[in-house]
Amino acid sequence: MRIGFGYDVHRLAEGRPLILGGISIPSAKGLEGHSDADVLIHALIDALLGAASLGDIGTHFPDDDPYLKGADSRELLKKVMVMIRGKGLDIGNVDTTICMQQPRLSHYMAPIRESLSSILDASLDQVSVKATTTEHLGFVGRGEGASAFAVVLLNELKG
Ligand code: MG
Repeated sequence: MRIGFGYDVHRLAEGRPLILGGISIPSAKGLEGHSDADVLIHALIDALLGAASLGDIGTHFPDDDPYLKGADSRELLKKVMVMIRGKGLDIGNVDTTICMQQPRLSHYMAPIRESLSSILDASLDQVSVKATTTEHLGFVGRGEGASAFAVVLLNELKG
């Protein structure tokens, strides 16, 4: 078994879409970034790469690469899963937390979880998605940005 951890932060800005785990969420502000700024998928990618000792998201998807401008992070996650399986590893389970003050994300937990489990080709039981505010403290609490944490356990494929 191999464990991995990932963390990411993106700034919130008006006029940007809010996309978390590949799901579009109605919001006055969205996350800013070179790609679609899906902070949850980015943290998850770093956790997967970390578990497989394959570097980090910036190694594989540099944020100055014009090809990646506006990139759909689901496609990046799919590419990472090919790398993971190429190393003879597969998902044991995934646990994630999104930190965001607004909007409230409780209604979106189920669709985000379904979205991630589909991309990972894992069962719902293998994928956990949680959300928390930070009680108005810090950059998340002030609504300046969002962060996400992810841990994954990978198992070696048999045979
Ligand atoms: Mg990022």
